[in-house]
Amino acid sequence: MEGFDIRSEAFREILAPDSRLTKLAGDLQFTEGPVWVAEGDYLLFSDIPANRIYRWSKADGLSVWREPTGNSNGNTLDRQGRLITCEHSARRLSRTEQDGAVIALASQFGWRRLNSPNDVVVKSDGTIWFTDPPYGIKPEMQEQPRQYVFRLDPNGTLTALADDFDKPNGLCFSPDESLLYIADSSRERHHVRVFRVTPTNTLADGRLFATIEPGVPDGMRMDTAGRLYSTAGDGVQVFAPSGELLGIIQVPQAPANCTFGDADKRTLYITAKTSLYSIRLAAQGAQQP
Ligand code: MG
Repeated sequence: MEGFDIRSEAFREILAPDSRLTKLAGDLQFTEGPVWVAEGDYLLFSDIPANRIYRWSKADGLSVWREPTGNSNGNTLDRQGRLITCEHSARRLSRTEQDGAVIALASQFGWRRLNSPNDVVVKSDGTIWFTDPPYGIKPEMQEQPRQYVFRLDPNGTLTALADDFDKPNGLCFSPDESLLYIADSSRERHHVRVFRVTPTNTLADGRLFATIEPGVPDGMRMDTAGRLYSTAGDGVQVFAPSGELLGIIQVPQAPANCTFGDADKRTLYITAKTSLYSIRLAAQGAQQP
């Protein structure tokens, strides 16, 4: 089947009759951080070097939504529908209030500046989980002794959950939030690890889930059946909950992130280098919102 590298018959379960990769926008610099805003039917995504967040919708096409952005990377929405953003050059996690004001949620850990927050997810209890690799800073600018995975509680407390990642990057919860998948994008590791989320919101029993090749894993999402969609050098690789590679949605440019959108959450939006793509699927995204 053109456009797919099918490794298991089970891969066909995610495909719909109209599953065809469509290019929605091009001529951008480096796209990342897609998030679907259901209230309004549009997608927001970052162009990191352009220092912009773009808005794309079926009705209106592409427009600049915010500029500058602190070189924003990952985006998500919290349970109140507010935009949560990882800002590379501003080295902080920010929130956009209902009135449009942008406030810092976290910029330091232990009195040292964060590296450059990369990707972020919000759990249903309102806690915010994000990764802090040093991609956005020069080596001599790093103040943190490690590249942590953090949890930010609603009261503002920041807790380091894992300290043995080289380049922690994309992350996503299983549909029931009992597991957290975290990519390590270093060229030496290029793998995805999975952890059990404990009742006190810490991580336990970490193990290797999958090794990504070609390329490295970056952004990831899950569908309601617990299949993992990881970006990779050749497209979006789809894994069974067991870790078996089911197949690959091939993308002409290496994707850095993806998210499910549209009212039925059956469209996968893919940010890939200079372009934005989408593909309709039978599978349905699990992430809330
Ligand atoms: Mg990333």
